[in-house]
Amino acid sequence: MAIEHVTIVVPGKAQSVPDQTVLIDRGVFRQVGKNVKVPEGARRIDGTGKFLIPGLWDMHVHWYDESALGLFTANGVTGIRVMWGMPMQKDWRRKAALGAMVGPRVVTAGPIVDGPDPVWEGSTSFTDPERAGMFVLNHRADEWDFIKVYSLLRRGAYFALAHAAKSQGVPFAGHVPLSVSLLEAAKAGQKSNEHLGGFMTDLRPDAADLRSKIDAALGEEGGKAKAFALSRSPGPMPTVAAVESYARSLAKEGMWQCPTLTVLRNISRLDKPEFVKDARLKYMPSEMRTMWDPANDFRFKARTAADWEKSRADFAAKKALIAPLLKAGTKFLAGTDCLNPYCFPGFSLHDELALLVEAGLTPTQALEAATVNPARFFDQQKAWGLVAKGMRADCVLLSRDPLVDIRNTASIVAVFQGTRMFDRAELDAILKANEHP
Ligand SMILES: [Zn+2]
Repeated sequence: MAIEHVTIVVPGKAQSVPDQTVLIDRGVFRQVGKNVKVPEGARRIDGTGKFLIPGLWDMHVHWYDESALGLFTANGVTGIRVMWGMPMQKDWRRKAALGAMVGPRVVTAGPIVDGPDPVWEGSTSFTDPERAGMFVLNHRADEWDFIKVYSLLRRGAYFALAHAAKSQGVPFAGHVPLSVSLLEAAKAGQKSNEHLGGFMTDLRPDAADLRSKIDAALGEEGGKAKAFALSRSPGPMPTVAAVESYARSLAKEGMWQCPTLTVLRNISRLDKPEFVKDARLKYMPSEMRTMWDPANDFRFKARTAADWEKSRADFAAKKALIAPLLKAGTKFLAGTDCLNPYCFPGFSLHDELALLVEAGLTPTQALEAATVNPARFFDQQKAWGLVAKGMRADCVLLSRDPLVDIRNTASIVAVFQGTRMFDRAELDAILKANEHP
């Protein structure tokens, strides 16, 4: 295949490269340049006036329906990081790598690893520091790509797990537990922190005391509610300077932030009738629509009008962290937390990019968070993440410039993933097949 006379967008750079020809063969960019000779018999795609970006990654996904994986592809999402793995995702990982299914490439955690009384049913409860080595060994044997840690792990268990994971070379990422500070987690080797959790607590003057109380509560029968209440107890808002200097220390330790602004925004707006009238609901089966109704969600069903207002204030406060974090050199990953209310597979990655730009990233920095940064995060930056010679040929052809307006990432003309190409008609057919009455 040859995409001719296209403008190549380089995530992280403000300048794009005009009038390029890109040769794709057997799933790899073989040639990229101005005077590239197109071999006889190649399928030629006219890229005049169009823009080519690397394939997008949603770095925080929960998804279990194989039949709807095409919705990621239809939205230019060529890779997902699954944050709670089941055996099915290992199957998808294999099929996507072979180009044997319509759907994104997969990197997957195992089941969530939480404390004595997990938040989510079905999580693995990890409580005995002595068993950390064996736990990580088994996790590796099960061929999960990384360990997903969660909020209610106790300090002793967490640090033992972190140590074992580090010594066995298994990455771990997820929620920094309520009983552990972000800096402690970063120093212990936790690779990413999700949802901008932890900043508000860590920057309180009484943070250390609060954490030891939380840890003690988690050791008590029924202490989960108490631990959450402690973590949410009102404290002073940190200053911008304090956020910046803390973020610098975290970035120095190599910790990435996956803010998932999409889910944070969504769960603060489910009481708004205009918000829940999303046209994209037609792609969700009725069980999903029922599940997304806050009246059916244990986290939201008891919320009052005042609670919704408070959750909007919390969202605004978290969004305000992005600018100082950016200034401090934080490395961001674009993630949606899809499967949560109104976080749509594929579609919402574009919501996340727009929210990151609203929060202070430039369009090219937002694109970087969904392309080059995921590649760097997985230590694969030599293999993919850019439209460049020798790299894996995952890319998205757009009709409008995403650097002028980040929402233009949705102006998709074609999606390329490895050896496969999906033109607009094929993408529309995928969408059509995913409509529900
Ligand atoms: Zn999640």
